[in-house]
Amino acid sequence: MSTFANRVARLRTLLAEQRLDAFIVTSLTHLRYLTGFTGTNGLGVVSRRDVFLLTDSRYRAQAAQEVRSARRICTQRPLLEAMAEHHCLAYCKRAGFESHVLTFQQYRVLRKSFPGKLFVPTSGFVEKLLLVKEPAELAAMRAAMRISDRVFGEIVTLLRPGIREKDVAAEITYRQHLSGADSDAFDPIVASGDRGSLPHGRASNRILRRGDLVTLDFGCTVRGYHSDLTRTVALGRVTRRGREVYRLVYEAQQAAIAAARGGMRASELDAVARRVITDGGYGPAFSHSLGHGLGLHNHERPRISSLSTDTLTAGSVITVEPGIYIPGWGGVRIEDDVLLTPTGNTVLTTAPKHLMVL
Ligand code: ZN
Ligand code: ZN
Repeated sequence: MSTFANRVARLRTLLAEQRLDAFIVTSLTHLRYLTGFTGTNGLGVVSRRDVFLLTDSRYRAQAAQEVRSARRICTQRPLLEAMAEHHCLAYCKRAGFESHVLTFQQYRVLRKSFPGKLFVPTSGFVEKLLLVKEPAELAAMRAAMRISDRVFGEIVTLLRPGIREKDVAAEITYRQHLSGADSDAFDPIVASGDRGSLPHGRASNRILRRGDLVTLDFGCTVRGYHSDLTRTVALGRVTRRGREVYRLVYEAQQAAIAAARGGMRASELDAVARRVITDGGYGPAFSHSLGHGLGLHNHERPRISSLSTDTLTAGSVITVEPGIYIPGWGGVRIEDDVLLTPTGNTVLTTAPKHLMVL
C-alpha cells in the first residue's frame, strides 16, 4: 500500500468510529498529507470508496504529477460547487468537515449544494494521524533541522554591535534557502536587548548593542516538514543577572529533556521545567507553555502546557523551549526539537547550548 493509501486507510478507521461516510479536507496541510498535493488551492473528499482531489485548472499539471492515489478534478468553478457537480458525496449521508478550517461562508455553500446531507463539525482527525512520524517524515524533519543548526553556526559569526535585527533575520532566511530549505518555517524572531522580553519579538529596526542578549528563534521547511530552533547569545559581555537567567533556562530545559518520553502526560513535562524556573525565583517570568508538537505544522499536537490534557506519544516530535522574560530588561529562551521514544527521547537539533559571548 502506498504511503497515501495507508494514511487514508487510517483516516477511514477514525471516520467509521464516528459513523461518518465522508470527510471534507479543507486544510491544505492535511490535503498534502493525505494526497501529496502541494498547491495553494485545493479541497479533498475522502469517502468510504473514493478519494477526490479538487483544484483549479492552474494546477492541472502539478496535480497530475503529485497525486496518484486520488481522483483528480481540475475546474474553473468554485471547488465546493464542483464537488456537487462531480457527485463527490454520492452515497454519503454524514460528512465530517474540519470545523477550525472551513469558513462559515463555505459551510453555507455546502448546505446549499448538498440538500439532505448532514455535515458534522470535527476536529483532530488528521491531527491524530500526524502524531506519529513515519521514517520519511522524520528524514525530512532531520534535514530541516540540520539546515537550521548549520545556519545558527553561520549567524553567530556575523552578530556584532551595529547590526539591525531585521538584517540578521534576512541573513537567516537567505542562508536557510541557500542550504536547501524550501521556505522559512515562520518569520525569524530576532529579539535583542530589552526586546528579548517579547517571546515572539519579530525582528525590528533595533540596532544590536554591546551587552545585549539576543534571542534567535527560527526554522525552515523541507518537503513541508518543519524545524524550530531557539538560541540566546550574548554580545560582548554578559551581566551577572544575564548569566543567572541563562543558567536557569538551560537547567530547566535539560531537566525537561531528561524527563521527556512517550507515555507521560504533557502537563507533567511542562511541570518539570517550570519547577526549576520557579525554584530559581522566576516562575511568573516563564509566561508561555513549554513546547508543542512539530511536523507538517509548525505547531501541532501535542500541546505541552500546564493545562494540556494530552499524553505524549512515542514517535512524536516535540519542542522543549522554556524561557524567562523580564519587561524592560530582556529575556532568554532555549529550544530544541526532540523525538520521543517509549523510554526517553532523541534530541534532534544540535546547535551548541552553552552561553556564547560573541
Ligand atoms: Zn521556535
Ligand atoms: Zn517552538
